Amino acid sequence: MLLDNTKNGFILKSNFELIKAYFLFKIISSRTLTNFGKNLLKLCLKLRLPILFIVKATVFRQFCSGENLQESFKTVKKLNDRKVKSYLHYSVESQENEKTYDNSLKEVIKSIEFAASKDILDFTVFKPTAIASSEILNKVNEKKELSDFEKGLHDRILDRFDIICRTAFENQIKVLVDAEESWLQGAIDDIVLKMMIKYNTHSTIVYNTSQMYRHDRLKYLNELKKLSIENGFYVGIKLVRGAYIEKENKRAIKRNYKSPICESKNVTDINFNEGARFILSNLDNFSLFCGSHNEKSIYDILEIMKDEGIKKNDSKIWFGQLYGMSDNISFNLAEEGYNVIKYLPFGPVKEVIPYLIRRAEENTSVKGQTSRELELIKKELKRRRSN
Ligand SMILES: Cc1cc2nc3c(=O)[nH]c(=O)nc-3n(C[C@H](O)[C@H](O)[C@H](O)COP(=O)(O)OP(=O)(O)OC[C@H]3O[C@@H](n4cnc5c(N)ncnc54)[C@H](O)[C@@H]3O)c2cc1C
Repeated sequence: MLLDNTKNGFILKSNFELIKAYFLFKIISSRTLTNFGKNLLKLCLKLRLPILFIVKATVFRQFCSGENLQESFKTVKKLNDRKVKSYLHYSVESQENEKTYDNSLKEVIKSIEFAASKDILDFTVFKPTAIASSEILNKVNEKKELSDFEKGLHDRILDRFDIICRTAFENQIKVLVDAEESWLQGAIDDIVLKMMIKYNTHSTIVYNTSQMYRHDRLKYLNELKKLSIENGFYVGIKLVRGAYIEKENKRAIKRNYKSPICESKNVTDINFNEGARFILSNLDNFSLFCGSHNEKSIYDILEIMKDEGIKKNDSKIWFGQLYGMSDNISFNLAEEGYNVIKYLPFGPVKEVIPYLIRRAEENTSVKGQTSRELELIKKELKRRRSN
């Protein structure tokens, strides 16, 4: 099977790096060890113990591309030599206030300009809550009346989205807007729709993210199709399953409303594949960015592409994985001629620790993912030993 080729999948990893990755995933696979590691790290930072070099040599190297754009570009080039593209994200998660939103805006603009200055970077990304107040997004989402002051804050959010999308448009860099929790997402969808209408008239620059663990997202994709025909714009969709399942279900129970999440993993999987099928059969209006580590979904999409007579390297279709994960998918798809791109988080080691902790926790909760990583690393080490 295409994605089982571990020689190709781990082509950029030395034996030492593979063994290191094995131990990291082993720790991440245990909730107890992850919690212990997280608390130990926090304690060491509090006591100002010099542990950042250990973090950098281990978990940072596995999941981040560097401390700044220049350092990260070395990783970008290495991946590019293996036909895998990259998109860079300044993954510093700071407190939310107007000043940090403006700082994040500057970082996104910097990364767009950096991408435009290199001919191997086509995409950029941002997280809406890094540039917008969750409180305002939530109020707009719930259609609550805003005070004049809050209206001013909302206008500022619209400005920030517009500055990013306009800069991306002027530099012809595609921009992926990450998806957030459902109680914010409606407000984000409305803004991104405005951006697509404005900047996606000749090609797909702006992509929204559709979380297919939500049972209402096929309806949303259908609505977008209708709007794109009426208004003459292209729709870009990053299709993912969704990262906030525990938070979503907990809040729905606490506040006594029907959870927006599909009733089981199997239903999410069906929904995800339906979403992909819908987009692939509407490529006159849509572009697909498939953000997934699920091999079955990838095989299904390849099958649909074959059935629909879509070229492997069709510029409207991209497969995205996170840096340090599912390399077997990325490198094997790229070798086969598909468009593949890695999400590369970067930032000063100390500042990206919250991102790294989140990555570890998400992996701990997605059991199948870590055991698959471990199985693949073991297989590759065995293959190397027998050669
Ligand atoms: C490039 C890229 C970009 C991403 N961007 C975003 C983003 O902007 N916003 C975002 O929210 N996430 C994002 N994610 C994360 C993504 O949503 C998933 O959490 C993650 O990729 C795991 O899903 P999977 O498709 O890889 O496969 P799998 O490991 O097969 O699926 C795991 C996912 O299935 C769903 N699931 C698990 N159990 C159940 C259950 N009992 N009932 C219903 N559903 C269930 C959950 O969504 C879970 O994360 C991104 C992922 C990638 C690779």
